[in-house]
Amino acid sequence: MSDILGLLQKLQEIDHRGDNLKQKITKRTREGETLEEEKRRIEEELRLLKQALEQARLALARKELELKEAEEKWMTTKNKLYSGEITSSKELAQWEKSMKKLEETKSLLEDEILLEMENVENLEREFREKTKLFSEREKDLVQRMAFIETEIAALRSDLASLEAERESIAALLPQEILIRYEDLRKKFPNAVVPLAGEICEGCHLTVPTVVAKAVRRREGVVRCPNCGRFLC
Ligand SMILES: [Zn+2]
Repeated sequence: MSDILGLLQKLQEIDHRGDNLKQKITKRTREGETLEEEKRRIEEELRLLKQALEQARLALARKELELKEAEEKWMTTKNKLYSGEITSSKELAQWEKSMKKLEETKSLLEDEILLEMENVENLEREFREKTKLFSEREKDLVQRMAFIETEIAALRSDLASLEAERESIAALLPQEILIRYEDLRKKFPNAVVPLAGEICEGCHLTVPTVVAKAVRRREGVVRCPNCGRFLC
């Protein structure tokens, strides 16, 4: 019967190692997810920056086109004004007025274009810098994620061998003892605990002398009358 206790202790040791491996796997998986999240975040930031840059370039091109049109109109107006075709002073004044207006439009557009150009340049610089920075960061993230994946695979493989070992030990235990052990594991981290004198190290309560004696003499599988844990 002390064989059974030995098997139970072995089972418990395997389960503790198994729990430890599972915790490590969970921790590593979370770390991997955090890195993945960061990778997605920087990719999104870069995507938005590129979008802003494209919009700024488009706005600049639009303004340049507007300026070109205004210049053409201005040129046509100027040619008309100095062509000698217009003789009425009233009409001349009107043409002069519209030329002046076109000049104002041109100057306004030129100012706007300068601002747009500055905007495009700033965005281009930011995009260049961030692309460089992010590509380095991304490389680092990918490397770390690959490392974590390798680690997780190794941990899973360890866990699989541990589970196989556990199965072979569980197969040697009587069914009712195994069921009891599994039930205790659901409640306590330790289903098998030592007896310190007459005190159960699981619940810290004193067990009856007869129980303590039975444990010491290794008379079968003894359980704590208070908490139900296996005593060894
Ligand atoms: Zn107890």
